[in-house]
This record gives sequence, structure tokens and C-alpha cells, in this order.
Amino acid sequence: MKIHIDLDCFFVSAQRTIDPDLIGKAVGVGGRGDQYIFSHEKSNQELLLNNSGSFVGSFFHRYAGDDLNQFIDADGRVRGILTTASYEARAYGINTGMSIHEALIRCPQLIIKGPNMQLYHRLSHELHQFLQERIPLIEQASIDEFYGDLEGWISDEEVPAFIDHLRHEIKRHLNLPVSIGAANSKHIAKLATESAKPFGCYTVVDDNVSSFVHSIPVQKFPGIGSAMQRKCAQYHLQTLGDLLRAKSLIFSWGPYAQSLYDRISGNDLGELTVSAPRKSIGISRTFDPITNRDEIRRRISILSRHLAYAITKLEVNPTTFSLSLHYLHHPKSHSAISESRLFNEQRFRQLCRELFAKTDLHISGAITHLGISAGSFSVHSRRTLSLIDYEDDAKARAFDQKSRTIRDKYGCDALKWGSEL
Ligand SMILES: [Mg+2]
Repeated sequence: MKIHIDLDCFFVSAQRTIDPDLIGKAVGVGGRGDQYIFSHEKSNQELLLNNSGSFVGSFFHRYAGDDLNQFIDADGRVRGILTTASYEARAYGINTGMSIHEALIRCPQLIIKGPNMQLYHRLSHELHQFLQERIPLIEQASIDEFYGDLEGWISDEEVPAFIDHLRHEIKRHLNLPVSIGAANSKHIAKLATESAKPFGCYTVVDDNVSSFVHSIPVQKFPGIGSAMQRKCAQYHLQTLGDLLRAKSLIFSWGPYAQSLYDRISGNDLGELTVSAPRKSIGISRTFDPITNRDEIRRRISILSRHLAYAITKLEVNPTTFSLSLHYLHHPKSHSAISESRLFNEQRFRQLCRELFAKTDLHISGAITHLGISAGSFSVHSRRTLSLIDYEDDAKARAFDQKSRTIRDKYGCDALKWGSEL
């Protein structure tokens, strides 16, 4: 069987491991667009490149305190949203994604904590290692979610006892509550975890798949997006059971609907992907609308400096680069450039500027989000890279190595480009 392991209200549970006073209370972890990176002062970013780094951004602001104050602006407005709510908070109707402002109206005694990404990454990594020691095949699906394949390792009859034991073992060793679902298919196992929450286990044997999914609302199934939900609503398909009974209708909707049907019925078992190598790295920030293009270019310089530092640390050579913009009143815009050269920060910064010129389709439109990323890593071989610029690039790269040493020691803000100041 396959199992799905999900940490219960992970960010809150993680805070509780270092602050036991939070246990049993209504607690929310807040998040807001990180503006600090664009500050003209030193911005105190930290870089995380470990395993779970591929599921969330790589740069985080290191918060000085972690109370409600960091979500209150100078004008007294409470900003930000909840990224996690404890079960005690959920009892007040508070959910993940709700604004902190609204959550505090529903539950004035709600304790708000700032994010501590370093802690979450460390605990996620520890849980990954813990699971790898106990289960031969483990896939990390997100910072707080794992799949395991027990086939040939634990017999189906022993699975319920095994996962129940595992749940208590994780609680004992890492002091973190998890819920675990088991089934022959990955998708049904994930659904089973939802029924087990919080701190529970649930096993669905093949014969019971249709009765298990029978009354689950359509929108609860991962992969049923808003377009598919609307289509289901049109045909009065409210639950997964309704959907399974309408096989010929679903199959007439095309290949995506067919594959969805197979996942819901448990016929598609889903293979585990174990530690896929990193394919790209990016950085992005959302902010209040800005129309001044000089300020946007300054921000792009800052993001490119941070990303270049991360790329130098990863010791990869990206050959495709992309930039995306969100406008307040226009559709998003995105463009990419491929270039096989030896990576260096100076050239990268220039590329980002070129990309911006290409991407900025509404030059007087207000921009609310910037993202840049780099991918298609090549081996650092002279042969695959352009020889024309190799000498210059090699010199610039040697300079990057020196800057990296300085930044490792004093932070990414220790060296800035003149245009940022
Ligand atoms: Mg979770």
C-alpha cells in the first residue's frame, strides 16, 4: 500500500515545539509579502537551499520579533493573511488564507506568530530523514507532506497498525502531530489523510474506495480546479460518488477528465517520485502597486543579485532565464531568454533588464508582482557554452566567487550594485 503523511497545522505545531505556551490555544501563523528585501537599509535576508527549498522560496526575511506588530503598518492597519491556523482557532471559523484582520474579529484572543522558515525547514528535513530510515521509498511532496510506498515491506493487513505506530513515533521523536492515510493509490491515500485529521490514521482498502469517496464533495479532490467544478455543478455532480456514477459523461469530457476519473476510482495508483533533482530556482515578491519604472528596475536589480548569489552557491549553470510581471489592471506578462554562456552575476543582471523591457507591455501600468527564475542547468563545460564570451564570462565568474565568500560571511547585502542605492 501507499501512505500519505501530512503534518497537522505544521507552522503552528513547529512554533509549539519551541514555545510550549502555545499548546492548546488558538494560534495563527501570519504571512505577508516580504517588502524588506527592497529596503534601502540592510535587509537581513537568509538563504535556504536544502531539500524542501524547492517547495517554497529560497530567500526569507529574518524577523526580529514574532508578534502581531510586524503585521501592523504605520497607519495602524493590520495587514497579511494566515498561512496556518491551529485547530483551536479553526473552531472559531478561522481558516488558512483568511486575512489576519478578519481572523482577529472572529477570535480577539487569537495569538498571531510571524513565520520562522528556518525552523520549518529544519523540522521538515528531520522528518524526511526519520521517514527514510523507516520506509524504503519516500517522496517529499511539499514542506509538510510525504508519500511512502510500503509494497513488499509491510503486508496490507499490517498497514493500519504500522501507520498508527508511526504516527506516535513521530510525535515522540519530533514532537510534531501528523495524520496518515493509507490506500493502494496515492490519490486515495491523500484523501484518507484528510478524513484522519487531526492526529489520526485512516486506511482505505480497495473494496471500500467507492464507499469511502461516495459523500466527499467534488471540490475536495486535488486536481479538480474551478473550471472542472463549474462543469460538475452544471451536471449536478456534487460528490465524488456522483462523479463515479457518471462514467460515460466524464469520459466524454476528454483525456484530462478521464485521468481524473481513474484517480478518483483508485485505478490510477500513482508512482512515487523520489528526490527529483532541482531543475530551476527563482525569486519573487508581491507589493503594493508601483508605476515608477526606475523603482521597478531597482527592485529587479535587487532580486537578480539575490538569485545570482543562490545560483553561485548551488554551483549550477542555468541557460534559460525568465521574468514575470503582474499588473494591477492588465493580464500577467511573462517572457524568457535562452543563452548558453558561463553564468555570472553581471551578465545576469543585464539579462534581467532586457527581459523586463520585453515583458513590460503596459509601460504606464501599475505593477504588483515581480518574479525572476533561472533553469535548464548545463554542465560547466567549455564545449557546450558559447566560446565568444567565454574569457569575459570566466573573469566575471571568478569575481562572483570572491563576492560569494564575502556574502557568505556578511550577508547578501554586503555587496550591492551602484544602481540599487
Ligand atoms: Mg499539513
